[in-house]
Amino acid sequence: MSRFAPSALLPSPARASSALALFGLAVLLSACSGAPAPTPAEPAKPAEPAKPAGPTFDYSADASKLNVILISMDALRFDRTGAGGGKVTPNLDAFSKEAVVFSHVTSAAPWTLPSHLAMFTARWPTLHGVTNKLKPNPDGGEAVFTRLDDAIPTYPEELTKKGWEAVAFTGGAGVSGKFGYNRGFTSYLDDKAFAGMDYSGPPAAEWLKAHVAGHFFMFFHGYDAHGQHPLVDQTPRAAVPDYQGKLDGSIEEQAKLREQGLAEIKKPGDVARLDGVDAEDTRFLIEVYDAKVKEADARLGQFLATVKELGLLDTSIIMIVGDHGEEFMEHGYVDHGATLCDHQLHVPMIIRFPNGDGARVVEDNVRTVDLFPTVFDALGVPGPEGVNGQSLIPMLQGEKMVLPIYAESDYRLFVHLRSVRQGQKKLILDLEDGQHSLFDLSNDPNELADLSTIDARTTYEMEQEVRTWLNGMRTDPKAYLGLEEEHIKLF
Ligand SMILES: [Zn+2]
Repeated sequence: MSRFAPSALLPSPARASSALALFGLAVLLSACSGAPAPTPAEPAKPAEPAKPAGPTFDYSADASKLNVILISMDALRFDRTGAGGGKVTPNLDAFSKEAVVFSHVTSAAPWTLPSHLAMFTARWPTLHGVTNKLKPNPDGGEAVFTRLDDAIPTYPEELTKKGWEAVAFTGGAGVSGKFGYNRGFTSYLDDKAFAGMDYSGPPAAEWLKAHVAGHFFMFFHGYDAHGQHPLVDQTPRAAVPDYQGKLDGSIEEQAKLREQGLAEIKKPGDVARLDGVDAEDTRFLIEVYDAKVKEADARLGQFLATVKELGLLDTSIIMIVGDHGEEFMEHGYVDHGATLCDHQLHVPMIIRFPNGDGARVVEDNVRTVDLFPTVFDALGVPGPEGVNGQSLIPMLQGEKMVLPIYAESDYRLFVHLRSVRQGQKKLILDLEDGQHSLFDLSNDPNELADLSTIDARTTYEMEQEVRTWLNGMRTDPKAYLGLEEEHIKLF
């Protein structure tokens, strides 16, 4: 239903009740003044239940004509977007004005592979099972690539069973089809590792031009903002001309810094920590990142311009999401994967419904696992059973939803971390040594002041929630205590 549909003009229950209240107030005032009370022209009829104002987000009648487009901007922090206070994403911000923007979104994991598969399956990484690229070979010998169990359905594959053609244009690496993403797709571009939208965008646009009349799901992805994708239009030093320090901003350097940080993990429970990167170096790395985000946004703008030119904007539901953020020494580390701080977990999640229906900013805490269930609900298409994500359509219709906000990382077996968020409180549990940290994001957004000893009760309650969640997934937290294992070299 369009937001211009007649039901949008009907009085809402709130408006109707305030009109009654005004009438009652008028009666009361006239009684006090001694004047005769006004009588209604007609006897009052029993109030009819008012229809809700605004869009219902029910597109089931048009589902067979609507396309679905998922755009993933890899490693894009929410605070770089306009809704998050950033100034480097003009195209994303213009798109957002006609969309539902979720401003408090927690990714299920702080790195590409488990995070994207959590979206594709609406399951926590532990439950979809692809928590690392490699796993020990049951027959001994070299580790083998992990692949999503065929018994676990993906949402894109479900769409193909219901008549959508699925195609993908990606930057490969952690979204390579071989991990299980590509089930049901007729084509899946992933042949270049850590490619940006400068690589995946042109063929995606060409495909759209050739399939305007089709009925499709497209997964469009690029690593433009990622540490392993270089700046294209200029050198990092040219992007930050006043920097005089020792760093060069290259992808090789970022990989080296990441590994140096991870090398500080020598025993179970250690954290990744990087020495020798000072405040000026950090500023340089952040400004290089911002330059990459600008390039990502420009390429997004080109893609969206094609979508619009082809008349697909209002015949599609378009999602834009980040899979994780990026850390720049906020916790003494560079890159992502090794911690669960919000710099790594707080991502953009935006849904544009046809005609820009219901455009708004939603501030409630939600998860990236809710993305596909929401779109399926809007399409009236049943999704897989037994998933962790939930449709956010009731929230968009005004219902209060309190969702369990979890995240996890077993990044390359360096760490085994779990987190839970309740309102502005966040608890991170290190499964290897049982250490926990409690943060209040309302006055400590950088998660620097551990309140676990000051607020022992909240810490206890939130830790019990994490442990109950782990129990529900048949995970034994004791199995991780003191765990020493060989780290996975491949990232
Ligand atoms: Zn990623």
